[in-house]
Amino acid sequence: MTPAQDVPQRVARARSVQEGWASLDPSDRVRRLRGLLDAIGSRAGEIEETIVAETGKPRAEALVEVTTILDLVGFYLKKAPSFLESRRVSTGWLFWKRALLVREALGVVGVISPWNYPFILSMTPVVTALFGGNGVILKPSEFTPYSGLLAEDLARDAGLPEGLVQVIVGTGVTGAALVRSGVDKIVFTGGTETGRKVMAAAAESLTPVVLELGGKDAAIVLEDADLERAARGILWGAFQNAGQTCISVERVFVVEEIHDLLVGQILKEIRSLKAGSTPGVDVGPMVVPQQLERVEAQLRDALDRGGKVLAGGHRADPASNVFHPTLLVELHGASEVLHEETFGPILPVVPVRDQEEAIRKTNESCYGLSASVWTGDRRRALDVAGRLRVGGVAVNDVLVNYGIPGLPFGGVRDSGFGRTRGLDGLAELTRTRATVVDRLGLSREPWWFPYSRVTETVLWASLVFRWKRGIRGLVAGALALVRRKRG
Ligand code: NAD
Repeated sequence: MTPAQDVPQRVARARSVQEGWASLDPSDRVRRLRGLLDAIGSRAGEIEETIVAETGKPRAEALVEVTTILDLVGFYLKKAPSFLESRRVSTGWLFWKRALLVREALGVVGVISPWNYPFILSMTPVVTALFGGNGVILKPSEFTPYSGLLAEDLARDAGLPEGLVQVIVGTGVTGAALVRSGVDKIVFTGGTETGRKVMAAAAESLTPVVLELGGKDAAIVLEDADLERAARGILWGAFQNAGQTCISVERVFVVEEIHDLLVGQILKEIRSLKAGSTPGVDVGPMVVPQQLERVEAQLRDALDRGGKVLAGGHRADPASNVFHPTLLVELHGASEVLHEETFGPILPVVPVRDQEEAIRKTNESCYGLSASVWTGDRRRALDVAGRLRVGGVAVNDVLVNYGIPGLPFGGVRDSGFGRTRGLDGLAELTRTRATVVDRLGLSREPWWFPYSRVTETVLWASLVFRWKRGIRGLVAGALALVRRKRG
């Protein structure tokens, strides 16, 4: 455990190393970060073991955490150098000036991560911060500290300066100390209620925050969808990682004419899933017992209101953390499972009259992380996608957006704000400095003191020129100049 009072010293140490790191030319810095690929690749087995040991998730899911980070590093190795370079910006009519947009590091970034994807969600902001020229202090979840601690080993293996990446371990108390420690930005991934606390605490020191919070992602299935693919995709989207994924499918809205067919197809698929905590299963245990209790409470509420379980609905045995993949139908509209984040292996399916009702119900949620649309008509899919109030949409697919490192990731409304991944994620952990250089060295600029009739006349003519624009603007500006002079 890192004592909360030690956190500011850790930040100070990272800051002293970070200054040298930020002063490197972006392409030199990026070259040094190439070492991360080898560091991660050669420790892949150990990373996989650590994730499996801490979460109990199937090996395939642990491996995806590693490949996703390798892809992100590969993306930034390719794209970061040009993105981080200073660039010229047009000065418009101020032709005797040169304008430069310089992108620079923020300083030290504080990262607070959850337990559900302990490696991806720790490493994504860490890697991005490093490419941006920052130092990082990471506070992983108290349930998965070892997956977070790997970040320090990987930075060392990659030959990065000692102290540039530091991991502090502890509960929310340590996280709260990091928020108050004077870091230059906080990237928080976790529950919406904790996100509110983080933002309130950060407001005291005006520390900017990125909040990646909970979700209640809907899958919209339209009458022309390929039902076999939709059923399989939704099944995977709902139950991979035992449903403990911020972008897992948490609600299905299916047009009523194909409701029974889709449910039948999902039932067929669900029966072939193996749930357990031994090697070779599809659906692993839930990581945190309290989370499993929340899932069970939502199920009880749904059943009390008349909902029906078609599959699952119970633990493998009373002492186990394995909860069987559960299919729920005939739900009352007020059921908690349709409104509050479940974060577990429950899939509620709700019939809707048509596409419009599906969009309306999706948008009724206070969350807005992502959604999926299932239809044979791509145009229609994009139309529906464009009307959903979410941060990302997959068409005839699920979760895949996160696998594309060039795409930004993040939500709207109670799912948070700010973006990780992609160039937007890198922009989030850098700042721009606007720099203007005078090239003529005149004794004074026309708008400096002293103000005179000439100043007013010139400003008046330039106003007319900007208003009318182009050749018309030139003529009108010249006329205005003459008229104003005479007047
Ligand atoms: P959580 O909010 O309980 O904890 C997240 C992290 O915050 C942990 O490291 C915890 O120690 C720390 N923390 C707790 N209180 C704090 C405080 N007052 N100040 C600072 N830090 C504090 O979340 P969790 O249970 O670990 O993760 C599950 C939640 O995370 C779900 O709601 C899920 O949807 C969300 N999540 C979101 C995303 C996303 O990218 N949008 C990804 C994964 C998980």
